[in-house]
Amino acid sequence: GQLVLDPAPFNLTEAIEDVATPVSTRAKEKDLELIVRVEPGLPRSFVGDVGRIRQIITNLLGNAVKFTDSGHVLVNVTLDGGNMLRFSVTDTGIGIPADKLKLVFEKFSQVDASSTRRHEGTGLGLAITSRLVDLMGGEIGVESEEGKGSTFWFTVSLPVADEFEREQ
Ligand code: ADP
Repeated sequence: GQLVLDPAPFNLTEAIEDVATPVSTRAKEKDLELIVRVEPGLPRSFVGDVGRIRQIITNLLGNAVKFTDSGHVLVNVTLDGGNMLRFSVTDTGIGIPADKLKLVFEKFSQVDASSTRRHEGTGLGLAITSRLVDLMGGEIGVESEEGKGSTFWFTVSLPVADEFEREQ
């Protein structure tokens, strides 16, 4: 179970588009609006393991679409302080009961049996995602209200690849 990071410069917007594009097909099929917002003025490129970052966002975005039947899924990327990137995925889906919120990052955890029957899955995605965020020295969390929706977020502090290149 060894996970090793392979950091290199990557373009932030491209990385998000790479993961949002395949998910947008499924979102469209379910008639969900998929919104991606990258805070204006962010540095264009950071140094990090973009493959792992894509894996994390894919898991959160995949879950958001899977557990939402109507409304929207919003991906938001902001920069807190100097170089702390904050990614969040908000959905208007089934939500998670308060007493189950802490469990979702555990291995093989699924919120309930009926949801397991309706939504296929292994209960492993978020456990792996949370390990990857740990490995990058970041934090992961979730806020949710049953029946209203969920916001999964993670932070990761990455060096800016080129300080002078700014997104318009
Ligand atoms: P799975 O393969 O079952 O989706 P995950 O580890 O990715 O495994 O998620 C674990 C459980 O957390 C899910 O089975 C589901 O019960 C709950 N969950 C994860 N994301 C969401 C979400 N966006 N909305 C509601 N429930 C969620």
